[in-house]
Amino acid sequence: MMTKNISIAYHLSLILIISITAIFAQAANANVLVDININQNEHHMAEVTVTLPETEKSTVELMLPTWRTGRYDILNLSDGIRKFSAQDSKGNSLSWVKRDKSTWQIANTKNKKIKVSYQVYANELGMRTRHIDDSHAFLDNSTVVMYSEESRAMQHTINLELDPSWRSVSGLPTGSHSNQFIAKNYDVLADSPIETGINKFETFSIDGRDYELVIWGEGNYDAEKMVSDLKVMVQQSKHIWQGYPFSRYVFMVHATSGARGATEHLNSTIIQRSRFKFSDRKDYLGFILTAAHEFVHTWNVKQYRPKGLVPYNYQSENYSNLIWLAEGSTSYLQSQLLMRGELITAKEFLAKLANRINAHQHKPGKDSQTIAQASFDTWQSQGGDYGNNHSVNIYSEGFMVSWLLDFDILTRTKLKRSYRDVHNELYQQFGVPKSYDEQDVIDILTQVTKKDYHDWWQTHVHGHLNIDFNKLLAKAGLVMSYGKSNDKNISKQEKAKLLPWTGIKVKKASHGLKVTAVEKGSPAWQAGITLDDIIIAVDGLRLVSKDLKSRLKDFKVEQDVEFALFRRDQLITKSITLGAIAKEKLKIIPLAKASRKQKAFFKAWTGLDFPTK
Ligand SMILES: [Zn+2]
Repeated sequence: MMTKNISIAYHLSLILIISITAIFAQAANANVLVDININQNEHHMAEVTVTLPETEKSTVELMLPTWRTGRYDILNLSDGIRKFSAQDSKGNSLSWVKRDKSTWQIANTKNKKIKVSYQVYANELGMRTRHIDDSHAFLDNSTVVMYSEESRAMQHTINLELDPSWRSVSGLPTGSHSNQFIAKNYDVLADSPIETGINKFETFSIDGRDYELVIWGEGNYDAEKMVSDLKVMVQQSKHIWQGYPFSRYVFMVHATSGARGATEHLNSTIIQRSRFKFSDRKDYLGFILTAAHEFVHTWNVKQYRPKGLVPYNYQSENYSNLIWLAEGSTSYLQSQLLMRGELITAKEFLAKLANRINAHQHKPGKDSQTIAQASFDTWQSQGGDYGNNHSVNIYSEGFMVSWLLDFDILTRTKLKRSYRDVHNELYQQFGVPKSYDEQDVIDILTQVTKKDYHDWWQTHVHGHLNIDFNKLLAKAGLVMSYGKSNDKNISKQEKAKLLPWTGIKVKKASHGLKVTAVEKGSPAWQAGITLDDIIIAVDGLRLVSKDLKSRLKDFKVEQDVEFALFRRDQLITKSITLGAIAKEKLKIIPLAKASRKQKAFFKAWTGLDFPTK
């Protein structure tokens, strides 16, 4: 009986393996053709045709993703799709209906090749989805090319028809000509944007890998310096991961106006910066930090990803408690690359760290949300009171948890291992299509340190963050240059160094300053000032300054001051008892008498020698 069952089971599994192999063989042989004709640049328009191989299905659903990778936010991408139509290979029209906002269901498709055509309106730059104008096109293919569940595994060949003077660049390999790209399957296509147009182009090779830098737009950048620094930066990945997941990598840069930010992709990145934000050291630092961030993502998120994001579900939210590890840890590791390549000095790193600490200290949401909850809820709106007062951020607080973890590992292993080793293990053990969960990370922490991490994880990942920064910094021989500004025990002498503080953020409105944020628990919050109030006068005088800060200098800490404001056009007054904020920016400074142990800790943490004052 048992033998027979085993034999049937074996037989069935063999059939299953054969049929799965057959499907994949069919998928591998089948080829989806995508033609993108950029013929109406001035109207930001492309004509797209997707030709699918013959199907046995009687209906086929074509879908456009509702979000794009790297941005955990549902976007209405189908609003740019126009004039959808479907035909068989003989040119006969096929009827279709829309099933939901991003699904087109085509009828009567059995034994037919299907060709769908549509226009795409591409006039969005800042979210790095799709943009076409008279000088270029940036196409995140997941926002341009539709897929079916059946065609997702198939090879895609993309042909671009465009201005012959344009140069097309992508992380995808080219086919028979420079405007043809080949993607192994739809997931590779969706994660490989194309930049085409009038652009600057640089190449370099390091450690057997080829790199390209393509820049669209004029600006105050120095492409030569960018190449020379990127050359150094990419080599530092060896301090984190053993091995490269690519043979060619493309840095795409938009030097433009009104768009800033960046997105990671499989073997490329798109970085957008204001065209005049490359030259000053501060601005340039922003560029190189961003480039390092996106490069770290090539491993962290593209090669290993939390469960819930593997495979990507393009039609809805992909929930996970670990998105902080994908983003916040990338923010943490970006500096590790730059410090190890000496592209950023210890002083610059510590100044950035001080800014992060300062922002975290003014983050009331750390008392109401954990980093695991923030990861799960990252798909909902991040703005308003939720963003200001009731949430933590997967990037900034994700950085803090990564930092805590790094220091804990360094301490427990007497500087022999670090958080970088954890990321190498994630890369080695959990490469996509595998994925990791919280227990997997805890297990890796134990493998790396030989210590149990359940309690640590519960306290910091599922508990509210309560970081003693001075205690943390002391390990590396550092100290913050002043105590908390709202510390009640602060001395009179220190008080003299304080400025009046309300806890309000404002922006210029037509007749006053509009409140954009009120920090929970701050003097303004206690006085009942709220979002969208328009402050028009302070202490009986019209507010003429562009910001509140300069007017507040006229008052003293703890003084009661009357604020006149419009709330939905109604004039009201509120009295604020001014709080205090430090006059000087928070600084992290090296201890003059740091011990050898502290200096060694600093070196193990940053790769840099302990800084002298
Ligand atoms: Zn990121």
